[in-house]
Amino acid sequence: MKKILIVGAGLTGATLARTLAESGCQIEVIDERNHVAGNCHTETDPETGIMIQKYGAHIFHTDQDQIWSFVNRFSVFMPFNHKVKTISNQKVYSLPINLMTINQFFSRAFSPAEAREYLTALTNQDLPYQDNFEGRLQKLIGTELYAAFFYGYTKKQWGRQPRELPASIFERLPIRFNYNDDYFNNRYQGLPELGYTDLVSKMLDLPNITVSLNTAYHQSLKHGFDHVFYSGPLDRYFGYSYGRLPYRTVDFQWFRAADDYQGCAVMNYSDELIPWTRIIEHKHFTYWHNFEDTVCCREIPKECGESDTPYYPVRFASNNDLLAQYQALASAERALTFVGRLGAFKYLDMDKAINEALEVARWYLQTL
Ligand code: UDP
Repeated sequence: MKKILIVGAGLTGATLARTLAESGCQIEVIDERNHVAGNCHTETDPETGIMIQKYGAHIFHTDQDQIWSFVNRFSVFMPFNHKVKTISNQKVYSLPINLMTINQFFSRAFSPAEAREYLTALTNQDLPYQDNFEGRLQKLIGTELYAAFFYGYTKKQWGRQPRELPASIFERLPIRFNYNDDYFNNRYQGLPELGYTDLVSKMLDLPNITVSLNTAYHQSLKHGFDHVFYSGPLDRYFGYSYGRLPYRTVDFQWFRAADDYQGCAVMNYSDELIPWTRIIEHKHFTYWHNFEDTVCCREIPKECGESDTPYYPVRFASNNDLLAQYQALASAERALTFVGRLGAFKYLDMDKAINEALEVARWYLQTL
């Protein structure tokens, strides 16, 4: 029986643990936090009784049957169709940009064809192709919509001028010429009824999995195991020997209020001068419960300092050399595989994290 150490009890670590345990391996999972589920951890706010997502909103969405069936083994998923609104210059708009947003913004009643035509006339089609966030968006939607909905938000989110950012950041969001205001286009979408921490705990609930919380990784731990899967930060594993890989972190400012604060789960704030990018009102995620009061959180992104929690990997071309140096060290490690968002230094939606973990588990089992 292979003995496996898994560092990190987030979705990646838990998926690996479950899959390898079901194939007969003996699994030890450690996590330095005092809970499982990593950044999708949920807990109950003691004052309002509302289930909160401690490290920001996570809505599960996927196109893959096998991922959807996998998570549904461990939790009932409540239907949830994620919608987001945004405030720009003291007015509320529909998001992602759709026909409603365009008509609201220009005070018109365009049909889809008219809206397309209007935006085409607004955008300077002679602009040279620019493969950066700002250039691509301005060419697609014109400078006014870009300034109202993308410039300020993106500058706050990434702490850099949008023209210095890759266009790929924006590919997560569609622009639609109809009234579909769904944030995600996926086939499956939902929220675990009892929260992600309950879901991950159930994933880890097998006799051949042990979980130790409040336990940080150190090199001496790897002896005695046949293989280690490490989902902590890649640069930290190597003692930051080449310097730090850049991350953005988020300051979460929590506050409570009576009744209903904003009427929806997520309100974005696109103006540059408002420090937060969005306010999350958690009770709107668990719409199947009723609560008198409410608890909300403002998200203020900033550069990740030494004692901050790394959230968004800043994986731009300028950091490729540093990343390559760490990847070279990583590939020289024997019997240790780096996994997950922090281990691979890439932004991963939850379904992608699970999918990659399933693939890594399959790869490992084939090597036996
Ligand atoms: N974005 C924006 N305005 C918005 C929402 C998003 O400019 O109101 C940009 C921003 O650069 C962000 C990217 O689109 O990083 C992807 O947005 P998404 O909502 O997917 O970000 P996440 O939920 O992952 O933080």
